Amino acid sequence: MTTNTSNTNAPHPDVIVVGAGIAGRLTAWLLARSGLTVTILEADSVGSHASGFAFGGLGPLEGAGIPHPILDFSVWCFQRHKSIYDELLDETGIDTQFHLRDRLNLAFTDEEANHQKQAIAWQSGLPGFKVEWLQPEDAVKAEPRTNPDCIGASCAQGTGAVEAYRYNLAVAQAAEKHGATIIQRRVTGLIGEGGRCRGVKLETGEMEAGAVVLAGGPWTGAMSERCGVEIPVRPLKGQIIRFQLSENPMVASLNYAGSYAASKPDGLIWAGTTEEDAGFDEELTTAARDKVMGDLLKMAPSLAEAELVQQTACLRPLSADGMPIVDTIPGWDNLHLITGGGRKGILWSTGMAHGLADLILNGSSAIPDLPALSLSRFQT
Ligand SMILES: Cc1cc2nc3c(=O)[nH]c(=O)nc-3n(C[C@H](O)[C@H](O)[C@H](O)COP(=O)(O)OP(=O)(O)OC[C@H]3O[C@@H](n4cnc5c(N)ncnc54)[C@H](O)[C@@H]3O)c2cc1C
Repeated sequence: MTTNTSNTNAPHPDVIVVGAGIAGRLTAWLLARSGLTVTILEADSVGSHASGFAFGGLGPLEGAGIPHPILDFSVWCFQRHKSIYDELLDETGIDTQFHLRDRLNLAFTDEEANHQKQAIAWQSGLPGFKVEWLQPEDAVKAEPRTNPDCIGASCAQGTGAVEAYRYNLAVAQAAEKHGATIIQRRVTGLIGEGGRCRGVKLETGEMEAGAVVLAGGPWTGAMSERCGVEIPVRPLKGQIIRFQLSENPMVASLNYAGSYAASKPDGLIWAGTTEEDAGFDEELTTAARDKVMGDLLKMAPSLAEAELVQQTACLRPLSADGMPIVDTIPGWDNLHLITGGGRKGILWSTGMAHGLADLILNGSSAIPDLPALSLSRFQT
């Protein structure tokens, strides 16, 4: 992929997208293939933040806003990953390694087990998924590294994962194939006039456009003052550890208390994760490594022998209620916002980007639950 560091090929594109994370790139691809000229402005390297380092789990049946009010949105996002996989393979030849994988949520206390069983009550009725309660011996059969001291596990079949870095790369290439340009520049401000955004200010110079999309991940909140509207997004740091295993890979993913472990197509086990309020700090810490190791050994004691090969840290864009924000910014005709993917920004990227592309192209969208993602939900 080429990154233009000097001049833009489209000095006055239809749309400028600020930020080349998955939210910005996917939106750019959808707009470009609908015939708009699109320029993506990225302050750092493509994929150098959360989008390029995420675990890539696609678990639509749990998380912020699930089941109410965004279960349908979340399931739609997951189903769209299946078809996007084929489209990206056709357009770019990149295999994003989307795959289905069983997911075990372990319980070690009665309270945890009851919580899981309550969720199974509504999850098991969803078309396309099978969710059931397993006794410890069946959990060990489903994933032999499961801690046999658990008191059971909910097992979800029909969910999956994608390789986040490949997915980002494929989307960027697909967008470029449709004429989108990625330029390495930091956006420092907006050019505004009578409720219309004429373009963006750069460290040196300006760039005009028909519309602007703010997709700056956890940095999007910094645009609040320039928009005149509070964008309630903050960074939530997360660290992941990758392990080498000499024996067979894990079959299912193990999950417990917000942490997870699974074998990835790169042959490594990825285990995570932390939730740290550390501002914009992206340094690795030993405290995070110890926390992730502790959770891993609780889920799978036999992994004590696995060799640590890499640790990564990056920042999730977390909204005030944990759900995404997809909207046109109030008071502006053509200034749009896509952020707040939080812990599920890879999963939700499909619905977020389709929703915003629909709003820009048609003024409305049929993506389920999209009104629940509006910025106005934070305004009293
Ligand atoms: C440890 C960890 C594990 C995760 N695992 C999963 C998972 O398993 N499943 C899942 O669905 N999600 C997961 N996520 C969440 C997911 O990675 C994020 O929600 C998602 O990548 C956010 O994408 P984004 O495009 O909004 O933001 P980002 O990826 O942060 O991209 C924003 C981009 O905007 C650029 N930018 C910002 N300001 C400017 C500016 N002024 N000018 C130009 N460019 C700018 C930044 O440089 C950055 O490249 C995980 C996250 C972490 C941290």
